[in-house]
Amino acid sequence: MLDALVVGGGPAGLAVAHSVLQARPGAQVAVLERSDIRPRGATVAVAPNGLRALEAIRPDLKAALLPHHCVHQRIQRYSPEGAPVPSRRVTAREQLKQYGEMIMLPWHRLQSTLAAALPQGVLHTNHRFLGFTEGADGVVAEFETPAGIRSFEAALLIDADGGQSAVREALLADGPPQFLGMAIWRAVRPVPAGWPEDAATWGVIGQSLTAAVLQDGELAWQAFAPWPADQLHMIGGGHRSYVHDDVSAAEQSVAGGTQRSREEIGAERILRCLEAFEGYPQLALDLVATTDPLAVTEHGQFFREAEGCQTYVRGRVALVGDAAHLATPFLGQGCSQAFEDGLELGRAIGEHGFSPEALAAYQEIRLPAASAVQHWSVKLCRQFRAGNLEHTEVDVSINEGFLQRRFEPLAADVAASG
Ligand SMILES: Cc1cc2nc3c(=O)[nH]c(=O)nc-3n(C[C@H](O)[C@H](O)[C@H](O)COP(=O)(O)OP(=O)(O)OC[C@H]3O[C@@H](n4cnc5c(N)ncnc54)[C@H](O)[C@@H]3O)c2cc1C
Repeated sequence: MLDALVVGGGPAGLAVAHSVLQARPGAQVAVLERSDIRPRGATVAVAPNGLRALEAIRPDLKAALLPHHCVHQRIQRYSPEGAPVPSRRVTAREQLKQYGEMIMLPWHRLQSTLAAALPQGVLHTNHRFLGFTEGADGVVAEFETPAGIRSFEAALLIDADGGQSAVREALLADGPPQFLGMAIWRAVRPVPAGWPEDAATWGVIGQSLTAAVLQDGELAWQAFAPWPADQLHMIGGGHRSYVHDDVSAAEQSVAGGTQRSREEIGAERILRCLEAFEGYPQLALDLVATTDPLAVTEHGQFFREAEGCQTYVRGRVALVGDAAHLATPFLGQGCSQAFEDGLELGRAIGEHGFSPEALAAYQEIRLPAASAVQHWSVKLCRQFRAGNLEHTEVDVSINEGFLQRRFEPLAADVAASG
């Protein structure tokens, strides 16, 4: 029997695995991830509190991520028509520096760096969670793999399978998250020849297309646009999709029942994005239009209200990351909260062992802290929608103290208990 079974190999699941292995060296931990590890997504921010949490888990993990930070000399905002707009965000970034280092890096580099730092044999890709049963001493979970169904037994099940969590549904049955009324398209692609921008955003809050040059000749773009709820089924798998680049059954079949290729489906995603940004500068549209259709992900944006997320733990199962507290993207804290979860769960397991008591201790620390972030992400989103742009995400994060959070290193706990 394993000590801990982690479902999902995104930022939360990988941080939990590292944290548990730090707190309990030699523990038997498995991370089961439905996909393989390959370039996906665009760029993701790790705020100062998130970096400090990761450093508290294992200082060398932070050090391994820093070289992937995309440093942009020039960050330019443009109106939807292409006129340069003075940016409050540049000042906000300057302001942020007072609160510590933050990084912006390609999502796939974050995932692959954390995955590569795990001991051999911990991460199992192409394992899709199907269901679990809980007994008095442990949990048995089943996974679909290319070789058939596999069962794993563990003392604890840690759910890190993201915003459309299948484990959460099996555990709490509280329904899918709410649709935020926005579609997102993302891709990493080669930098076009003669590309003039370092980091640029065209549009307004709620409808924007952002492009950021990465290292190694790559560029990440992401496009957010309002999307009607009654058309949600049109994009990337409808309500069940969340940053899931697999082609859904709905996308694959057309009215006549014929199957479409992945290229055709990707090309349709690009067309929908271009339609949503019709009239934007040609430079930005060409960037989208000339992207390899296979590289484009498309999905709706979802969230949960903090009030509906007051349970992170039941028995021998704990929720972490987006599975526990899916926020809106408006605070840029998703990854950082996942790292804070990972740290505190590892610390609790270090103290209480692989027991329900450890999970309860984790919930006691993390529920109020993550709920506050989740609550503000929804509030800020509503303010932006109402046209109130008085507060930036940086203002809120500073005022509420999210960026100032500091953590005792796990190593100190391990030394004290050993
Ligand atoms: C492919 C991908 C790309 C992303 N790109 C960006 C980005 O560019 N910018 C940004 O801000 N945020 C991005 N995100 C979201 C961001 O990572 C999260 O919002 C946040 O960091 C919290 O991480 P998480 O680990 O809780 O959830 P997630 O990052 O969503 O990770 C969940 C993991 O669980 C896996 N999983 C899901 N269902 C199952 C299942 N049934 N069985 C096994 N495994 C399962 C998923 O494949 C994924 O690896 C991306 C997420 C994914 C999955």
